[in-house]
Formats: sequence, structure tokens, C-alpha cells
Amino acid sequence: MSQPDPSTGFAVTTPAFLSRLAEIVGEDGLLTDDVALDGYGRDETEDLHFQPEAVVLPRDTEQVSRVLAWANENLVPVTPRGAGTGLSGGALPVHRGLVLSLERLDRIRSIDSENLTVVAEAGVVTAELQRRVDEHGLFYPPDPASRETCQLGGNIAEDSAGPRCCLYGSTRRWVMGLEAVRPDGAILETGSRNLKDVAGYNLTQLLVGSEGTLAVVTAATLRLIPRPAATLTLALPFDRLEQAARAVCEIFRGGHSPAACELLESGAIQAVAASHPVPAQLNRCDALILIELHGDDTEQLLRRAAALGETAEQMGGDEVLLAKEPPEQRRLWEIREKVGEAVKQRSLYKEADAVVPRSALAELVRHARRAAARHRLEAICYGHAGDGNLHVSLVQGELDAEAWQEARDAAEEDLFRAVVSLGGTVSGEHGIGWTQRRYLPLAVGETELETMAAIKRLFDPRGILNPGKIFVE
Ligand SMILES: Cc1cc2nc3c(=O)[nH]c(=O)nc-3n(C[C@H](O)[C@H](O)[C@H](O)COP(=O)(O)OP(=O)(O)OC[C@H]3O[C@@H](n4cnc5c(N)ncnc54)[C@H](O)[C@@H]3O)c2cc1C
Repeated sequence: MSQPDPSTGFAVTTPAFLSRLAEIVGEDGLLTDDVALDGYGRDETEDLHFQPEAVVLPRDTEQVSRVLAWANENLVPVTPRGAGTGLSGGALPVHRGLVLSLERLDRIRSIDSENLTVVAEAGVVTAELQRRVDEHGLFYPPDPASRETCQLGGNIAEDSAGPRCCLYGSTRRWVMGLEAVRPDGAILETGSRNLKDVAGYNLTQLLVGSEGTLAVVTAATLRLIPRPAATLTLALPFDRLEQAARAVCEIFRGGHSPAACELLESGAIQAVAASHPVPAQLNRCDALILIELHGDDTEQLLRRAAALGETAEQMGGDEVLLAKEPPEQRRLWEIREKVGEAVKQRSLYKEADAVVPRSALAELVRHARRAAARHRLEAICYGHAGDGNLHVSLVQGELDAEAWQEARDAAEEDLFRAVVSLGGTVSGEHGIGWTQRRYLPLAVGETELETMAAIKRLFDPRGILNPGKIFVE
């Protein structure tokens, strides 16, 4: 029914193909006009744009299944999409075809306060889920900074993390089971509500982090815990970034177990300070560590904070700023949350999502600065230092567009080669997607790549689901 496009090998959609889709999802569930399609051709990755041929907005799992089966039969590529906040181009329809948006699967199906689980659909916004379970005194820890917009399906596809994942682990640790649809339309129910489950291969954990290339997640069973009774935030300023990087390692060696341990270097703090109030003491420093402690009561946390302050001082830290009340804590965390947007306002930039063993953080910072300077760029490091995961923003500054592209690619490759030599890897949480594909072979061996490609073929023999992602074709 559909015509093949010689440049991609996939079929181009036809009016007959689209009219069948409209029957499946309803007229209001199919978008084909250019203005509506434009937004679905972008995500938060640089300024990339790939216009899809159509967008489908199913309302339930059954519709997702029928859309996929129809696209598979006709060899039309399908790109799953959550909120489009991804930073590696995973939701971009690089071979055109359909964007399959999960935004209308937005129901929380059940909250089980006895067994501490929630069943939620893929299109539920992460922060909304957190608010809903909080009403029951429960806590879902994964907290990507984009949580007010990003969706659970996107978080699961990327195995997203956030500051609190330092103590609680990334999204994968909270996913007990999935409802997902294979590219041929078959509906999979993986895992269970049981806290222990070793019945067969762990398909749940195979799908988490598979970036929408193996199956489309429609719902998830997630683990919850009781909300922590007390929290405390500390800001630890340092005169030198290397001191701060070493202090992070010492904080964990000392057994302080922070819930969050983030690092911001001066470039990041100043970018935020350009449009947001930052306490003078923090604005002056070369690097800042932000810590969140969770515990049973504030007295206990104050004792832990004092011990932590001593460790920081021994590592060369300045006077500690302590926030006990929620509004003060929020003000400190806002500084961290605004960094990405603030760096973007300053100049065009490329963000490398580098991760190393925690003990190599200071080395990572040194390599980032060296790689940037070698190619006449500035590097701004910030992020989830407690996980050894720093976002290195390579900033265009004064370079013209052509020089910038060359410098950016060369600096990023130098940085990733150094990261891998430190025992690290090329993405901590943003995924490989479209923009990081060429770096994957730096971190993953040939046999592992072959095995991954074989898994992809098994789930998606016709290659219609999110083609062009993770692997260099
Ligand atoms: C300001 C900002 C801050 C951020 N902070 C963080 C952070 O702290 N930590 C972090 O880890 N990330 C962060 N991110 C990145 C991003 O928000 C996460 O990767 C997020 O999980 C993406 O969710 P989404 O719903 O926007 O997915 P999308 O961007 O729409 O899609 C991401 C990937 O998931 C796939 N996908 C989406 N839904 C499904 C589904 N239902 N089934 C199968 N595949 C699917 C897509 O095909 C794509 O490959 C940030 C991004 C921004 C813009």
C-alpha cells in the first residue's frame, strides 16, 4: 500500500495508510498538518529538527498495538515520544514516518499503599506521579530536573536519574514490571508486583534504558517507599574545583550517605546568577557542592550535617550554608535546577554526559578543561557528582558556526576518549539516541555491540521501531 523511499529503505505513508490509522486512533488522534508536526520534529537536543510525516496520539494500549502492527506490516518507521525533553535526540523521527506520542496514556491506574506500588501509564508526568503518591505519604524518588514536563515512559526508556538517585538509584531500581508493545503489535506483560521475581529472563530490566528501540512502554508498576520524615540541604563552597571533586569522594568514604550530592563549578553558578539571586558567598566560590540529607528527624540530620561540614573543611572547603526549612532548601536547589537553561541562554553549547568512577572526578574535570582549551572552547562542569556523572557543557563562545562545529566534535571526542581511559563511559543518563551514536564503540566492545544488535533484531526484525538510534547504521 505504501511506497518505499530509496534513501531510507522504509515506506512513505500514503492517504490510504493514514486513513486506516485515523480509524484506529480517531480523527483527533492523527495529526498531519505541518504546523502541528513541527513541534514533534524537535526535542531538547541542540537545534535539531526532523519533520515526521504524521503524529499518532493513541488513547490506550490496544490502540498502540494496532498502530504498531499496521506500521510494521507496511514498513513505516515509528518513533515513540514522551514529552520531548530528551537530550540525545532519541525522540527525533530521523527517518520520518510516524511519531507515536504517548501523551494521552496519562492515567494513574492504582496506588497500593499496603504493598507500596503504583501502576501508572507511560504518559503520566513524573512530578504529577510524585504529587499523587505524596498524598498517600509515599515517595517515588527518581527526580530528573525536567520532572515537571517529562513522562514516565521517557524516564523508563532512558533510565533517567536526578540528584536524589545518588542514594535511591536511577529509574530502573523502581520499575518492577512493564506493559509494553512489541513492534509487531504483540502486548508484553513483564515482571510483577512481587518484591522477588526470578521467573525467566528479566525482560523488564532489558526494556528499561532501551531508548524506545525494542518496544513501546504503555504502563509500569513502580516501587514506592514512605516519604522521608526530615530533609536538610547544605551548600559547601570551595576555592578550587579540584578540591571540591576530591571532597565528593571523601564524603562517601566517610559514610555520610547523602540523598543528593551535586557539584557546580563557577561558570555554572555565574550563568545562573545572571538572572537569578545567588547568595554572595556562593557566587564568589570556584565550585559548590550541594548536599541533601534524608532521615528520621532534624536533630539527627543536624548532627550528620556537622560531621559532613568537618569533612568538607578538611578538604579545603569554606563556611557551610545550611537550609533547614523547605523554602530555604528550595532556594538552594533552584540554583542547581536552573543551570541547564542558564548555560543555554549564554551561548550555543554541546553537553557531554560524562561518567567516571567517583574517585576519578577531579581527573575528569581536568580533562574537560584541557579538551575544551585545546579546541578554543570553554567547559562548564556541573551535575550528579555523587554518581561520578558530570554534564560538561562545551560552550561556543566567540567561534563562528563552522569553527564551532569542528571544535565541538573534536573536543567531545577527546573528552570521551579520556573518560573511557579513566574507566568511565559515554553516557550516564541522557542515553545514546541519535547524537551520541558514534561514541558508543569507544565504551562498548565488538562482542557486546553484536549482542545488542541481535537483541534489536529479535524484537524488531523489520527495524521499524525508532530506527537510526543507538547504533551507527
Ligand atoms: C531541563 C532539562 C533537565 C533534565 N534533567 C535531567 C536529569 O536530571 N536527569 C536525567 O536523566 N535526564 C534529564 N533530562 C533529560 C530528559 O528529561 C530525560 O531523558 C527524560 O526521561 C525524557 O523523558 P521524555 O518524556 O521527555 O522523553 P522523550 O524525550 O520524548 O523521549 C526520550 C526517549 O524515550 C523514548 N520514549 C519515550 N516514551 C517512550 C515510551 N512510552 N516507550 C518507549 N520509548 C519511549 C523516545 O523514543 C526517546 O528515545 C533533562 C532534560 C531537560 C530539558
